[in-house]
Amino acid sequence: MGARAEAVIDLAALRSNLDYLLGPACGGPEVARMVIVKADGYGHGAVEIARVAREAGVPWLGVALPSEALRLRTAGDTGRILAWLYAPGDPDLATCIAADVDLSAGSLGMLNDIAAAARSCGRVARVHLKIDTGLGRGGCAPGSWSDLLAAAVASPDIDVVGVWSHLASADIPDAPETDEQIAAFEHALAEAERAGVHPQVRHLASSGAALSRPDTRYDLVRLGIATYGVPPGPRIDLGSLRPVMTLRGTVAATKRVPEGHGASYNLTWRAPRQTTLALVPIGYGDGLPRTARGAQMLIGGQRHPVVGRIAMDQVVVDVGEAPVTAGDEVVVWGTGGSGEPTAQEWAAWDDTIGYEIVTRVGARVPRRYVEE
Ligand SMILES: *Cc1c(COP(=O)(O)O)cnc(C)c1O
Repeated sequence: MGARAEAVIDLAALRSNLDYLLGPACGGPEVARMVIVKADGYGHGAVEIARVAREAGVPWLGVALPSEALRLRTAGDTGRILAWLYAPGDPDLATCIAADVDLSAGSLGMLNDIAAAARSCGRVARVHLKIDTGLGRGGCAPGSWSDLLAAAVASPDIDVVGVWSHLASADIPDAPETDEQIAAFEHALAEAERAGVHPQVRHLASSGAALSRPDTRYDLVRLGIATYGVPPGPRIDLGSLRPVMTLRGTVAATKRVPEGHGASYNLTWRAPRQTTLALVPIGYGDGLPRTARGAQMLIGGQRHPVVGRIAMDQVVVDVGEAPVTAGDEVVVWGTGGSGEPTAQEWAAWDDTIGYEIVTRVGARVPRRYVEE
């Protein structure tokens, strides 16, 4: 019996991607790799992805939230982890410091929070100071950088191990703003040196830049989406990277309907001819983008259109005269190698990016890990 819906995570593809990313595609051995497993490993399962990454020899893991870092520790991970995003007074900060998790500070307030948390558990916190080189999100404004550096140097509770920033257009290889951000980063690094801060790692690049801009690699590259084999942008060369996730389901039922019969809420679609409709029990409650237009699924080796509205739990697929029956396998997206759509195609159908498509696969969908 096929599963109602499941995300099959191909660990062989993951290992192959890790090998590729640990090789010359992202720089030499002098560049350290950090695999990003925030948001439950972009929907793939953070703990499993982390385990395989460590086995492959990845020295760093990155997450957004302290709670995400602690989940990895609870699962037994003992390597370097960086967590960079939290609200003031996050109770997990002290737990992170006690658990040897590196934290990021992009403001005096964050630095003070970390120092207080470090004192509360009698430890010195390892900190990566973040400079805003233009993205306008987290990170210290250049005008306050020298104050942040001075405060970090003066604090007995803080050990600065990293200086870092994040690019606005890592997905576009020749974006002029990347040149500007590199210049701003160089400036911030020089200022740090003058302040007596000599970080173990300087890092700027996420997947797109790591693959396409050697001048952004510094000492470490942060690899999220590339690890999962999803393109960071349309112009980034993916080399041998391949998608790790296949989202699949099973046809629940089929029926013949006459010309003019509607399908799904508000009857936005009507059968242009007599046809067979297949009911596929997967919907936006599982992470499918409800606003996708022109979506297709692979059933019986052939692509068929999703018709009418995508509902919370189910969609209707017009399979025409194809001999589809209840119990047939449905591939929603996968590698594309057997003709199925990719997450990237779903992204195009919903005017979004592949990141969002894989990341929002819901908690209701079991992940099944396979070595293909
Ligand atoms: C998510 C994230 C990354 C990874 O980006 P990808 O494009 O998925 O490689 C790197 N750095 C920061 C700060 C991030 O938030």
